[in-house]
Formats: sequence, C-alpha cells, structure tokens
Amino acid sequence: MSYVIDFPGIVTLPVAESSKSFPVGRIYCVGRNYAEHAREMGHDPDREPPFFFMKPADAIVQNNATIPYPQMTRDVHHEIEMIVAIGKGGADIPVEKALDHVFGYGVGLDMTRRDLQGEAKKMGRPWEMGKAFDNSAPCTAIKTVAMVGHPAKGAIWLKVNGEVKQKGDLSELIWNVPETISYLSKLITLRPGDIIMSGTPAGVGPIKPGDKLEGHVEGVGDLTVTYAK
Ligand code: MN
Repeated sequence: MSYVIDFPGIVTLPVAESSKSFPVGRIYCVGRNYAEHAREMGHDPDREPPFFFMKPADAIVQNNATIPYPQMTRDVHHEIEMIVAIGKGGADIPVEKALDHVFGYGVGLDMTRRDLQGEAKKMGRPWEMGKAFDNSAPCTAIKTVAMVGHPAKGAIWLKVNGEVKQKGDLSELIWNVPETISYLSKLITLRPGDIIMSGTPAGVGPIKPGDKLEGHVEGVGDLTVTYAK
C-alpha cells in the first residue's frame, strides 16, 4: 500500500514467545467495572449495564517505556486493567460464544487526566480529553489463549514507586470478559485487532513526574512504566 502522506502506520503490540505482532485497531474501555472502584468514584455499584469509552490505538505505550507527564493537566491517575485482545470480529455475539473471539490477554493502564474528565462530567461533555490523550494506554505484550487460558480469577495490582496502591481480583469484575464482549458487540461490530480494557479495581490515584508504575495481573503479565522527571 502506498499513501499520499507520510503515515506513521499501524500500531502493534508484541505477542509473547512469537516473532509476529498483534495489530491494534480500536481500544474500548469499560467504565466502573469493579464495585469498590465505582464506590470510590461516588457511584452505586448496582449492576447497571456496562458503558464504554475509547482511546485511539496510537495512545499505546510499549512495556518498560519512559514517557512524559501528560500535557494540560495537574491530576493524572493510574488505572490498572486486564486487557483483552480480540482475534475474531463479530456482532451480536452470545455470551457462550464470546471467548471464541479472544486472541489473548495482557496488562494495561488506562491513564486518566482526572481533572479534565471531572470537568467534562460536570459539563455533560465527552470524556475523550480526559481519557484519550498521548501515551494514555501503556500495555504489555499479548499472551495467547493457548498460553494463559481465559483468566477469570487472580490478583490484579498496581504499585507506585514500590508501594501497592491498587489491589483487586479478576473475579470481582461486575461484567466479566464474556459478558463484556457480548454486550459491546451489540453496540458495535467488533473487529480483529480491537482491544478491550476491562476496568480497574479500587485505589486509583495521582502520579507525579519521576514515578515508576508497576502493574501485575496474575498469570497474564507485568507492566512497568516510568514517568520522566
Ligand atoms: Mn478504566
């Protein structure tokens, strides 16, 4: 393919134990998908339908990168999440078939400019400038289903400068992975290459320049990101 402009090309994530890469399409994020986190954000964690927002693929940051503190904000929060890499597209996917559409799993951070998100919420405006900014989606390599199965329980945590800030268990997801895929596929047609950020456990909080973030999902992987001083 030749283009009429200098196009930066498709964003990819490495695949563990493979020389091939996973091409990233769209990134869909689930909001308030752990009860304790819904409560800390001032919401009733009753099982209302899941809701979604997006990040652009080029918000991806590779594991072990050092990135600049984001622009136009004074309150950047960490949200550690398990990510689901979609290998097979589809619409109206039933819950029982949803896991057939998964290529693999990884660990991601849904970095959030909480001040801009808060203003947007207050004014009834879209969340994009709080959520979908440069370097807002650090992610690990993808591990295939053959390697990790379909993780439904196991610890998920985040440390900042070695101190545990977020801690939860995948079993606490309000909408589990198959339910999330099924629901999302009724709203939009999923495409191979899509990534779903499945939600964050309680303990979100601010980071500052120089901080080192280390995230873990049991059986899935470890993500490290450092913010430049
Ligand atoms: Mn999130």
